[in-house]
Amino acid sequence: MIPGITFKRFMRHTLIRTGLEAIALSGLSRRRLPGGAIIFTLHHVRPDRPELSKPNRLLSVTPAFLDETIRTCRDLGLLPIPLEKLPARLCDPADENRYFAFTLDDGYRNNAEFAAPVFRRHGVPYTIFVTSGFAARTHSIWWETVEALLSRHEEIEFDFGSGPCTIPTRTALQKTVAIDRFSKFVQTSDEDAAVRQIDKLATGLGLDPLDLVSRLTMNEKELAVLATDPLASLGAHTVSHVNLTRVGEDRLRQEIVESTRAVETISGKKPQSFAYPYGFAEAVGEREFAAALEAGYEIAVTNRPGLISRECTKKPTSFNRVSLNGDYQKARYVRALLSGIPFKLAGQPAARPA
Ligand SMILES: [Zn+2]
Repeated sequence: MIPGITFKRFMRHTLIRTGLEAIALSGLSRRRLPGGAIIFTLHHVRPDRPELSKPNRLLSVTPAFLDETIRTCRDLGLLPIPLEKLPARLCDPADENRYFAFTLDDGYRNNAEFAAPVFRRHGVPYTIFVTSGFAARTHSIWWETVEALLSRHEEIEFDFGSGPCTIPTRTALQKTVAIDRFSKFVQTSDEDAAVRQIDKLATGLGLDPLDLVSRLTMNEKELAVLATDPLASLGAHTVSHVNLTRVGEDRLRQEIVESTRAVETISGKKPQSFAYPYGFAEAVGEREFAAALEAGYEIAVTNRPGLISRECTKKPTSFNRVSLNGDYQKARYVRALLSGIPFKLAGQPAARPA
């Protein structure tokens, strides 16, 4: 069953790559952006790390590719815009411009180190979505914990719910299968308990999950410094990074309100944008959109793939984004994405973002 998932993943990526190549070759990608804007999602921005297991490698692009993506957007006549200004622009009937906005989820330190200089060089605004529990070092990042364990061990013993089992993690394929399995475990059992169990596994193997968070993400002080960059905005991304569709009403509101307050304390101003953790179709819905609106957000973003149409939206808390994928780091793929065709053909042409 699990190798089946991996084969499906492989086939999906092969199909997507073939599709993007076909669109790029057909010349269709030279047509005008059909919508009014594109909002990009990024996670890690850092030099290539081929040793990473595939699912996490997909969440990482190089600074050179970020540079190339910005140039491609500009070549196609798109204008950069701060995310929070986008809804008003879309509601202005006299505005015929097409826009691009950059967002970076989870507050990785490499965003300040490698992405910020690229944005600065091009004068392009960007929004960092802060998971306040990561910044405060109170919550671990389960997919990074698993990645770190996979890189250190040739096999791992874990109980996914039907008794302890040994998972081989030596080869690249085994690592991909293993992270798929952990991912399914987190997404189908109680998420808090699943993360605690992964943390316990790591601690038992000599890896401190919160120390890993400290190594990978910016703390509150670093975020406060980054927030002084006139191009940077901080948005909220919950406290714990839980899938919001799987928690009760009180927890949903608490995650939004407390992370909003935390980001306000860090940057000195109320965040104007919010990103739903994971953000894929099963991690967002009408209840979550309404909660973000109720919390006062004028824009909130999913990771449901798609461009933004040129119209005044009545649902500003359900914007689509396009995840830049570590497997498709070529300008011609970006052009193909900007044509909007891949979203009509194939659903999500990217990793399932975090
Ligand atoms: Zn995230």
